[in-house]
Amino acid sequence: MKIIYSPECAGYEMPGHPESPRRVLASAELLKQKPRHQFVAAQPCVEADVLRAHSKRLLETVRSGDFQEPDTPSLPGIFGHALRSAGAAIHAAELAWKGEPVFSLMRPPGHHATKEQMMGFCYFNCIAIAVARLLEAKDGPKRVAIMDFDCHHGNGTQDIFYKHERVLYVSLHQYPCYPGTGLESAFNAHNYPVAPHTEEKFYLEVFDKALGEARKFGPDLIAVSAGFDAYRRDPITQMGLEIGTFAKLGQRLAALKRPMFAVLEGGYSSKLPKCIDAFLDGWELGVVPKETEE
Ligand SMILES: [Zn+2]
Repeated sequence: MKIIYSPECAGYEMPGHPESPRRVLASAELLKQKPRHQFVAAQPCVEADVLRAHSKRLLETVRSGDFQEPDTPSLPGIFGHALRSAGAAIHAAELAWKGEPVFSLMRPPGHHATKEQMMGFCYFNCIAIAVARLLEAKDGPKRVAIMDFDCHHGNGTQDIFYKHERVLYVSLHQYPCYPGTGLESAFNAHNYPVAPHTEEKFYLEVFDKALGEARKFGPDLIAVSAGFDAYRRDPITQMGLEIGTFAKLGQRLAALKRPMFAVLEGGYSSKLPKCIDAFLDGWELGVVPKETEE
């Protein structure tokens, strides 16, 4: 599989923040041990790409660095980092549309960033920027389904594409939990809130229902907001998934048999690399790893 990655994305940090550089560094190290993965360098997107999903005001705010959001801090170079993460998502989407499975292993994440607002560790909404660009492309997809299995509701993605006729947004997320949205479904947004401590068996039942929604929509491209914070040992959530559950999600998404790309959203435990690895193995090889946890 192609992995879009640039080690530069580890170049910002707020000490003590769960969204740390270690997440991607350790994940890249593990995935590089598998010769079938091909790493491709991430490039920043241009401002016009950002403006398909966000207001000029948000773009200028992130550029200026003049903002105070406790969990989405203004850090040196963050504008460039946000552009590069979104650029990686675009590249992933374009390669996927040509028929290759692609994973974007970048930070910052994106699915909480709304049209007007950065929040929840997210500055620009990478997956929305990527999907919006592809929808405009000549010979691009007609309909895109965004599947979001991050433990948190992707309020930003829902906001940006709300009522969009060519985009379906489907999310499974813990509720109650940050950001407190995603309790109901409306128009093109299909939300499946699940209770804290939900375990694999029930989660997969709900996931299969959610996939049915995507199938009905008839997308010609699947975009996945891949967050791994529903893992049972994640430090900021309270869900009950195993590492192997992510392989099963990968298998199920691959069974849709559509061009597909995924971008990294959340996932804050030390097992993030193994969760990603399991997801990619399930997706590409149809394999579920033996549980190797101590
Ligand atoms: Zn999350």
